[in-house]
Amino acid sequence: MGEKKNPLKRSWKFISELLGLYKNSPYVENFHNQANIRSAFVLSIVMIFLESCMLIRYVKKYVIEEQMCNSLGEFFHYTKNYWILLTLGVLTLLYAHFYLNGKLKIKRAFSELWIVVFAGICLYFGYEVSFSDYTKGRMFICFMTMVLYVACLLIWRPYISIIMLTVIATTFLKWVEYNAVSRETGELIGVDEGDKINYWIFFVSLIMIAVSIYYQRQREGKKSEAIEKAMVTDRLTGAPNTNRFYQWALSYIDENPDTKMMYLYVNIKNFKIYNNSAGYLRGNDLIIDLANAIAEVFPDEPFARQSNDHFVILTKMSDCRARVEKLRKLVVEKNPDELYLDINVGGYSPKGDYNDPRLEMDRARYACSLLKNRPDDYFIEYDEKMDKRFHLHQHIINTIDKAVKKGYIQVYYQPVVWSDDRSLCACEALARWIDPEMGFLSPGEFIPVLEETGQISKLDKCIIEIVCRDIRTRLDKGELVVPVSINFSRLDFELMDPVEELEKMVEKYRIPRDMIHVEVTESALTEDTEGLKKSLEILHDKGYSLWLDDFGSGYSSLNVLKDYEFDVLKIDMVFLKNMEENEKSKKIIKSIIELANTLGMKTLSEGVETGEAADYLESAGCGRLQGYYYGKPMPIDDLYSKVVSGEIKASATVFK
Ligand code: C2E
Ligand code: CA
Ligand code: CA
Repeated sequence: MGEKKNPLKRSWKFISELLGLYKNSPYVENFHNQANIRSAFVLSIVMIFLESCMLIRYVKKYVIEEQMCNSLGEFFHYTKNYWILLTLGVLTLLYAHFYLNGKLKIKRAFSELWIVVFAGICLYFGYEVSFSDYTKGRMFICFMTMVLYVACLLIWRPYISIIMLTVIATTFLKWVEYNAVSRETGELIGVDEGDKINYWIFFVSLIMIAVSIYYQRQREGKKSEAIEKAMVTDRLTGAPNTNRFYQWALSYIDENPDTKMMYLYVNIKNFKIYNNSAGYLRGNDLIIDLANAIAEVFPDEPFARQSNDHFVILTKMSDCRARVEKLRKLVVEKNPDELYLDINVGGYSPKGDYNDPRLEMDRARYACSLLKNRPDDYFIEYDEKMDKRFHLHQHIINTIDKAVKKGYIQVYYQPVVWSDDRSLCACEALARWIDPEMGFLSPGEFIPVLEETGQISKLDKCIIEIVCRDIRTRLDKGELVVPVSINFSRLDFELMDPVEELEKMVEKYRIPRDMIHVEVTESALTEDTEGLKKSLEILHDKGYSLWLDDFGSGYSSLNVLKDYEFDVLKIDMVFLKNMEENEKSKKIIKSIIELANTLGMKTLSEGVETGEAADYLESAGCGRLQGYYYGKPMPIDDLYSKVVSGEIKASATVFK
């Protein structure tokens, strides 16, 4: 709620703003100043033109026709006023030109003084010329013209315009009243009542125009200030945003050339957990608290909210650690009930002279991201050892589009066999990145990076197309081909429409839908996922088989079974890891298989590395097996060569 103000105070504020008495923000002041200098630019051109015309006229009439001028000295004597005004016009024009092009670094006060001088000289001449020959009446127009100049220039401070114009108008009229004598008769001519009223109306109109232009400018200035502010401010916290940070960081480094600096990348440990349990609004409050704490601990140093609960800071290296500790204390102490809350801070101290703050900040962010796997630490500094991995990380982010386009992304297929006769019944498509610069990259290296940067859908779209194309090629040649499982990340359901993407490719390559299995990892289903659930239902209705990946690896596996309809349950390889020694593992596997059967699901065991494991799984009732024992992921031709050579048995049917 905005505070209620007394109406008198409000009116006074409005009037003082109209008159230019109110202290504007530096931005608005500057906005007015720029507008004034632009006016001065135009007016000076008009002045130069007028005075040049006057000089030409003088030369033509008095020098050439009437030959009244006998020497150069005399010429300058009679035309000195024109010369003064012409010089003034040229000076103002030059001044305005250089100022507006940013070539003059002059304080605003000087601009204002210059305008006052310009206005004063204009008025003086208007006065002098008009008085010199008031009786003709016509010369009054000259005075008016000069006054008009002043009014235009003084828009920057309406109250000064008002004072100046009132004083000038009053003295002018008074002077005329008591001093103007007729040239012909020598008598005092005074001012006609009607004329007086007209003169005053003219002055008042000028003032009104000046005030109204000022008011318009004032509003425009404030509007553009608000827009500019919004462009560099984060909406939620009011902290600067990254656009502002980059500029600020550069000038901060410029101002402190010999100081060692440190970029800090800060986020809240376990923020997602807090957000889910305490709710979105309290999550926002926590972000605002962190923004305030940063502003308090790092006063006058560049910082910004980067996104969500992520902030960046540029600070002096010397007491950086102590300040980070203070920041941490502020956050932790403010939330005494949430023991799991803490901050993660990644630091990077730039080497060398100058580097782009964006790149420096990326290093601090990378260091910070490593804290994810270190729950007990809260500060980590970027070091040489991280450099190699950081470059790979940046390479992945920067080259994913190229990798997709140039075919660096390839699909390897891992066989899945029936447990009863160990014959090939399906395969799983697993992404590989074969990079000309970085070599062979495994999904463990690039998938987390692509997920973190919201680019995983680029990869998965590419995998869908390659898989469909591979199937079509084999179908066209009349060769054996088994159904293929494609892995989908949770983020795919936010970043793209998996239904649309699959349908597009399935139609393009005319692939029977039962040739594609959709694999979704169990951990993807534990968060609030209405959209994901809906997409899975549509996919199922369309005839794709749904496979639940990594079952048993997460915390809420059983909940997932309750809420979703899957056709096949893939038991995570953790259970097989120590199956030989651990009897319990065997029992768990058996129970999972029974549970799946009860719920109407088929089962598959991943990570089968030995014949014993395979035999046990078969005896426990697991329908399908996958693991190095039957084959590692490999290019499609290698997979089917093994079938041709008999190393992998072909199956009579791929559907059971
Ligand atoms: P995942 O879907 O659970 O895939 C199985 C992973 O286990 C594969 O690793 C595979 O090579 C490995 N594996 C298979 N059999 C055995 C075994 O007997 N022993 C051992 N120790 N490992 C075995 P990979 O190919 O490195 O993939 C890792 C993960 O990356 C995958 O786990 C999947 O979550 C993700 N991924 C792979 N390709 C894609 C993709 O195209 N899209 C998406 N979104 N994720 C993918
Ligand atoms: Ca998988
Ligand atoms: Ca898996």
